[in-house]
Amino acid sequence: MSKLPHITTSIFTVMSKMAAEYNAINLSQGFPNFPVDERLSDILARLAKENVHQYTPMAGYPPLMNKIANLVQSSYNRIINPDLELLVTAGATQGIFTSILALVKTGDEVVILDPSYDSYESPVLLCNAKPVRVTLNDDYTPNWESIEKACSSKTKMIIINNPHNPTGKILTENDFLALEKLLSKYPEIIVLSDEVYEYITFEERHISAHTKDFLRNRCIMISSFGKSFHITGWKIGYVVAPEYLMKEIKKVHQFLVFSVNSISQAAISEYLDVVDVNLLGKFYQEKRDYFQKLLQNSRFDLKPCEGTYFQVASYATISDEDDIAFCKKLIIDHGVAAIPISTFYSDNKDQRLIRFCFAKDDFTLESAAKKICNI
Ligand code: PMP
Ligand code: GLN
Repeated sequence: MSKLPHITTSIFTVMSKMAAEYNAINLSQGFPNFPVDERLSDILARLAKENVHQYTPMAGYPPLMNKIANLVQSSYNRIINPDLELLVTAGATQGIFTSILALVKTGDEVVILDPSYDSYESPVLLCNAKPVRVTLNDDYTPNWESIEKACSSKTKMIIINNPHNPTGKILTENDFLALEKLLSKYPEIIVLSDEVYEYITFEERHISAHTKDFLRNRCIMISSFGKSFHITGWKIGYVVAPEYLMKEIKKVHQFLVFSVNSISQAAISEYLDVVDVNLLGKFYQEKRDYFQKLLQNSRFDLKPCEGTYFQVASYATISDEDDIAFCKKLIIDHGVAAIPISTFYSDNKDQRLIRFCFAKDDFTLESAAKKICNI
C-alpha cells in the first residue's frame, strides 16, 4: 500500500537521465555546469585536513549560523536570533519537508500556487493534509481572488515561491498588500516562502518575505546555498522562522537528520567572509541575455524572465505535440534536454511551454542554441 500512490519519479531526474542516455545537452534539471569559485574549493581543500569532520550542533555549525544571521541583516535589514530562529538544513528540500512535517496536521489544507515546484505536495500528503492547488494568472501573477476563495478555517499554510521556479516571476508590493489583507482575515495561516533564488534577480531585486513586518511572526523563510554559490550537490540550505515555529521544526529535524554535513557548513561559513552575493544577479543576467540573444532567431517564443536561472519558451508555432512528448523528441531528435512545464501543474495543464536552464558555460549555451535554432 503506497502512501504516495500518484507520485512518480521527479521530472528533473527523468529528463537528466534521458539526456545522459542520448548524450544530449542537458538544459533540463537546474544546476550549473561551470566550476565553483576557486576561493571556495581552496577553503574546502584546506578544511579537509582540519578538525571539522564530526557532528555539528543539531541546528547548525555555530560560525555559519552567525554569518547567515549577518547575511539576512545585510541583505534585508532583518535582525534574527540564530540560536532561536535559524536552522541549517540538507538543502532547501529538507527545510521545506521538515517545516511542513512539523507544522501541518491531519485534515489541514495547504495552498500551493501552480505552476509549482515539485517539493511541496508530497510532505503535505504525508501529513494526511490536503494540497489545494490554485493556478496563477496567465502572466504568472497570483490570482488573489482565487487564493482567497481557496482559503478557509482549514487552511494552515500558503506556500509562495519568489523568485518563481519555473517562470522566473517575482512578487510585487501589491502582491504583498493582497497577502497581508488575506492573512488579516485568517490569523491561523502561516506562510512558507521559498526564496532559494533570492540573489538571482535581474532588472529588479525581489521583495523578500524577510522585509515584511506582517510576516515576521508567521512566515517560514527557506533558502539554499546550492543556488547562491553554484553548489547544488552540497545540499546546504537554511530555514528562518519565528521561535515558536522553529521550536517545532527543530523537533522534526533532530530525528530526520540530526545535523547536516559539517565540512560543507564550515567551508560556506568561511566563504561568506569573502563572497559578495550581490554580484550573482549580474552574473546570471548576463547569462540570461546571452542565451536570449542566441535564441532570437529560433522559432521559440521566449517568455519574460525576472529572476532564477530558467527560461520559459513556447513552441506553439513549431509543434502541436504535448510538452512531454515534445521534450522527449527534443532530446532524441535534436540533442537538447528541457523540462515540460505541464509537470508543474496538478492537472498537467499543457500550454506548449518548456523550461531551459541557462546556468551553463557559454560554450554549452552556444552549442545548445545551434541545435535549438535548427528546429
Ligand atoms: N525550491 C525551489 C524553487 C527549487 O528550484 C529548488 C531546487 N532547485 C529547491 C527548492 C531545492 O533546493 P535544494 O537543492 O537546496 O534542496
Ligand atoms: N530545483 C531543480 C530544478 O528545478 C531540480 C532539483 C532536483 O532535481 N530535485 O531543476
